[in-house]
Amino acid sequence: EAKRTGRGRMVAVSAALRAQWRDRRDVEGDLRRAMECNEITLAYQPRFSTTDLSCVAVEALARWTHPERGSISPEVFVPIAEQAGLMPLLGAAVFEKAIKQCSIWQRQGLSLSVSVNVSPAEFADTNLVPRLLTILKKYRVDPNLVEIEITETMAMGDFESTQEQMIALRSAGLKIAIDDFGTGYSNLSQLSRLPYTSMKLDRSLILDITSRDSSLDIFRAVTGMAKALGHVTIAEGIETQEQYDALAEIGCDEVQGFLFAKPMHPDAIPAVVARSRFDVADLKKA
Ligand code: C2E
Ligand code: MG
Ligand code: MG
Ligand code: MG
Repeated sequence: EAKRTGRGRMVAVSAALRAQWRDRRDVEGDLRRAMECNEITLAYQPRFSTTDLSCVAVEALARWTHPERGSISPEVFVPIAEQAGLMPLLGAAVFEKAIKQCSIWQRQGLSLSVSVNVSPAEFADTNLVPRLLTILKKYRVDPNLVEIEITETMAMGDFESTQEQMIALRSAGLKIAIDDFGTGYSNLSQLSRLPYTSMKLDRSLILDITSRDSSLDIFRAVTGMAKALGHVTIAEGIETQEQYDALAEIGCDEVQGFLFAKPMHPDAIPAVVARSRFDVADLKKA
């Protein structure tokens, strides 16, 4: 399926809404209730180093299981929460859950980085960094273990405020990833002046690298550029061994995708970390 952004995504969201709810106020009501009743949980998807395939980080991904409608994708409910003005609240709940989980892993002796996605409304909040720091202090989690993911499109918003917010996050010790890179229209010279630490290359850039030479060339060029700028390169959405082989060959630093691990319950993470240096082939059988 194609990655939808902007207008296209809104059309997709409205279609999903029409199919599932008669009135958008119902959705908002449901979402408010879901947040109060803890129906929103987090799944964690491991990320691995291409050096030794050790698990180096996990990404927190919001999950909503509606009592009647079943599971609803964050691609649907995050934009709705954003429009309804609920995202600052939802985002704060997500961050606190992820940090609490990180502190549990920390106590178990796992030094795992946790990545949290931040929405435009949260990123625009000038109080974001102090709020995050309060939560990190509360759970005694090292800010170095936390990475904030903001999409390429968000990073290309108001340059001055993006830069300010990123500087604040970095001085507080948090890491920053540019998410979904390759789906927006970046001004590369502006992007290069922002102090992020890693670049997540979108699945759409990886989809046909094994069937089209030009796709492979593009991927190689983008990886080379990110590395030249000193960023960690992360490939998202790897589903096949062939894709992995091509990325590893190019020198991509880290990988995330269904080939290695799907988003999972936090209790399943320690076993993945323990299985450190394994063979990709073994994973496919698992
Ligand atoms: P994202 O941040 O780019 O997250 C990666 C998405 O790709 C996840 O979808 C993940 O399950 C999926 N994925 C990972 N590996 C593969 C693969 O090999 N193949 C395929 N086809 N997909 C793969 P998910 O969990 O449905 O989340 C979708 C998007 O919703 C996220 O994209 C992110 O933009 C947003 N999102 C999720 N949780 C949150 C949250 O807590 N806050 C905010 N602001 N946004 C969130
Ligand atoms: Mg992400
Ligand atoms: Mg992404
Ligand atoms: Mg995304």
